[in-house]
Amino acid sequence: MEKLLKEEMQGTALEISGKSKNARKLYIESYGCQMNFSDSEIVASILTEEGFNTTQQMEEADLILVNTCSIREKAEVTVRKRLEKFNAVKKDRPHIKVGVLGCMAERLKSKLLEEEQIVDMVVGPDAYKDLPNLVREVDDGQQAVNVILSKEETYGDVSPVRLGSNGVTAFVSITRGCDNMCTFCVVPFTRGRERSRDPQSILQEINTLWEQGYREVTLLGQNVDSYLWYGGGLKKDFEKASPLQQATAVNFAGLLDQVARAQPGMRIRFSTSNPQDMTLDVIDAMARHPNICNYIHLPVQSGSDRILKAMNRLHTRREYFSLIDAIRERIPDCGISHDMIAGFPGETEEDHQLTLSLMKYVKYDFGFMFAYSERPGTLAARKLADDIPDPVKKRRLREIIDLQQKHSLYRSQQHLGRLEEVLIEGDSRKSDQHWMGRNSQNTVVVFPKEHYKPGDFVLVRIEDCTSATLLGTAVEYSDKR
Ligand code: SAM
Repeated sequence: MEKLLKEEMQGTALEISGKSKNARKLYIESYGCQMNFSDSEIVASILTEEGFNTTQQMEEADLILVNTCSIREKAEVTVRKRLEKFNAVKKDRPHIKVGVLGCMAERLKSKLLEEEQIVDMVVGPDAYKDLPNLVREVDDGQQAVNVILSKEETYGDVSPVRLGSNGVTAFVSITRGCDNMCTFCVVPFTRGRERSRDPQSILQEINTLWEQGYREVTLLGQNVDSYLWYGGGLKKDFEKASPLQQATAVNFAGLLDQVARAQPGMRIRFSTSNPQDMTLDVIDAMARHPNICNYIHLPVQSGSDRILKAMNRLHTRREYFSLIDAIRERIPDCGISHDMIAGFPGETEEDHQLTLSLMKYVKYDFGFMFAYSERPGTLAARKLADDIPDPVKKRRLREIIDLQQKHSLYRSQQHLGRLEEVLIEGDSRKSDQHWMGRNSQNTVVVFPKEHYKPGDFVLVRIEDCTSATLLGTAVEYSDKR
């Protein structure tokens, strides 16, 4: 299932080497999307300058932070249980301060602080630079809150410390917020409007990562295809920019070109793409640059036009197929994955069958699949009854997952006998005699270690597979880099 739902990172407490003069300890746990894990690295960087080193032992912490997710109800329930645990630790060590960061901070604001009084500090995703002040306020015995959403903040000037890093692959944030207003999604409310980060600061971060030995970066955003740098500011204000700003703006295809050329030895990935914003230019840039991986995460959410419309996804099933065809035509061996929601309000059995038939057309390499969870404040919660009974949602989700398992196995089998370039990330989960890495399509490859080491690009002959993993033998170093 690892390929389908990547749960193992949820709630991990991250540790980095700090500064020897730092006297206080920070324990930081992260939940939710990769963006949150990336944000925790920014938070750790800011607090390292404020006298904190990270620890993985919550009992020895002076400050406990939890970077939270609101995307589904289950995510919020998990965090609430953790807050109870933190408060139990606090009873023994009353000087400990507890803070909530991220999407739940934005969504629940004063509820957590004033009504329930289970935290000392509440900090929204655009307010991390205010942490030094907020920490001082809680040190003085006050409660502290900053949940202001910004028009400009991209943290482009903060060098993130790489928490829990394998030293080989890193995430680089390129946009923040989202303007898409999918009716099921809480992100535009918790992370604000969309803005893009200065390409120069992106290139600088990637150059530094290369010098530090990193060999793969994933460019991150809620909707990377919508990237647009015109000197700063919200995407929606682009029309108000000067003619010069508009003429010299950099879009996502332009950014990919710049990044791929700046570090030709570095593998480039990106996530997440949105079908309504992905252009042929982006696919062409991928096809042009051998160091951009042949993999696209292209959530569709449903296979039914009626449901896509109700979700405010601004494309049809037919348009999605055209995009898939264009990808396969330009990059025949491109790995493609999806996000899917089962049981959106009003979803009929026929709609569900359309989802399954869409999956059969694409035969995705892997997918992230969810039962619909009503989120307060979203348009769907305000306008549409959550009317699909739980057992029906669960059964439809099961059918989607089962079909995906079959397709994942089918896709894995297509790699058998091939010689594939793999970037070694570290020990395989099951054996310290084997390396684990990924091929260009983002599928995990496991093979005996021999004389190779993490960070090496190796050609591996694929000899066996499961639906989630390819197994093989290293043949030689890859000379593509
Ligand atoms: N920005 C991306 C997009 O729009 O395709 C991904 C956003 S979200 C962080 C990741 C996934 O969570 C979504 O693609 C969707 O499948 C799922 N999701 C979001 N809101 C949901 C909800 N209310 N119930 C169930 N799943 C949800």
